[in-house]
Amino acid sequence: MAETADVVVVGGGVNGTSIAYALAARGAKVTLLEKGALASGASGYSSALVRMHYTNETDARLAFASFPVFRNWTEIMGGPPVFTHTGFVTVVAPEYAENLRRNVEMLRAIGVNTTALSPKELKDLQPFVNVDDVGAAAWEPDSGYASPAETVDGFRRRAKDLGARIGPSTEVTRVVREGHRVLGVETTGGRVDAGAVVVAAGAWAPRLCRELGLPLPARPKGIDTVQVTRPPEVPRHMVFIDNIQGSYFRIESGILTLVGVPCQEWDIDPDGPLALPADAPAVGAQILTHRIPGMERATLARGYRAFDCYSGDRFAILGPVDGVDGLYLATAFSGSGFKIAPAVGTCMAELILDGRAKTVDIEPFNLRRFAEGRSPQGPYPYAPRLDQVDPPRPA
Ligand SMILES: Cc1cc2nc3c(=O)[nH]c(=O)nc-3n(C[C@H](O)[C@H](O)[C@H](O)COP(=O)(O)OP(=O)(O)OC[C@H]3O[C@@H](n4cnc5c(N)ncnc54)[C@H](O)[C@@H]3O)c2cc1C
Repeated sequence: MAETADVVVVGGGVNGTSIAYALAARGAKVTLLEKGALASGASGYSSALVRMHYTNETDARLAFASFPVFRNWTEIMGGPPVFTHTGFVTVVAPEYAENLRRNVEMLRAIGVNTTALSPKELKDLQPFVNVDDVGAAAWEPDSGYASPAETVDGFRRRAKDLGARIGPSTEVTRVVREGHRVLGVETTGGRVDAGAVVVAAGAWAPRLCRELGLPLPARPKGIDTVQVTRPPEVPRHMVFIDNIQGSYFRIESGILTLVGVPCQEWDIDPDGPLALPADAPAVGAQILTHRIPGMERATLARGYRAFDCYSGDRFAILGPVDGVDGLYLATAFSGSGFKIAPAVGTCMAELILDGRAKTVDIEPFNLRRFAEGRSPQGPYPYAPRLDQVDPPRPA
């Protein structure tokens, strides 16, 4: 006899496990299926910056609603803390300084503790930073970063405690539908009947949806990271997003700093071998040394290529699928889906169980926006990141 569940969640990354936890906490009978090990997709490699600065209000609200979960993890989720507090700054070029100030106003209206800084004020805060090309910075004194593996494991543990079945090494081979209604899934371990299926399959989601006859406007893209050992003269620094160079850096443990290296490899096979390009350490070093000149003497510790699923407009795809009752998407987080995962879980549970997400209105992230020509982008964007410009699709 087939297993039954109220909801099947496909994918054991930070979003799938958060959704499974939130549903189980609301009393739903949940089965989460993961084809490999939990956190073996983007989540396990995530730099996991936990900040609230966004240029669109939906992401900002999701990040704001998620932040207390990271900060008060032990109280809320049990288990060891997952959050490291460092403070956060993001810098923009002079031509985007006014946009940044407008975004800081939008964030403060939501309740985020953030301040716009002049280049001099940034220099006072982080004296080792080069501010020559900076027009303005936004500072979040409370932000930091999280431990990806422990976050996923915490969601898994709580979901399981609350009665969810977590099935690692079980691939969903097909979402079963009859006419306009989802009936469950077929897997390498047998069938699971369910009234609702959530596709939280990260970079694999376009493939799974294609087999369902649902083309997703989303593509897997590589993300490159290098880690360097900080020279003794550079102290522990805040988490940085450098919009001028299209990069970010954050500390990792006592002596390492992790640097995001722009990567333009699209349509990668998430199951294939992934290699960091030979020039990535040099590019990372150049970016880091430009912003923190004292890093000139930093030494390479290691580097790696990972990936995420990027949507056509670089915003997540969240919500029900029109015309297929019981099918929900939580995917295409476009390199930014870690810090919002707690609220994504809550909102998806509200949507599935109550018919509407109340914690944050996630309607701007619905798949139908592409057909309707809507974008969640706010009115004050920054320079587009060159590594996120779509190349033509392969023939
Ligand atoms: C290097 C890097 C740095 C990043 N830095 C940040 C950051 O600083 N802050 C931030 O907020 N975000 C960041 N991100 C993005 C963020 O990590 C991702 O958006 C997020 O982890 C996506 O989580 P997910 O659960 O949607 O997908 P994933 O973690 O990719 O999980 C999807 C899971 O689904 C499973 N799966 C797929 N198909 C099937 C199937 N058919 N059956 C069963 N299981 C299946 C996969 O095995 C996988 O485990 C970063 C990402 C990377 C790679």
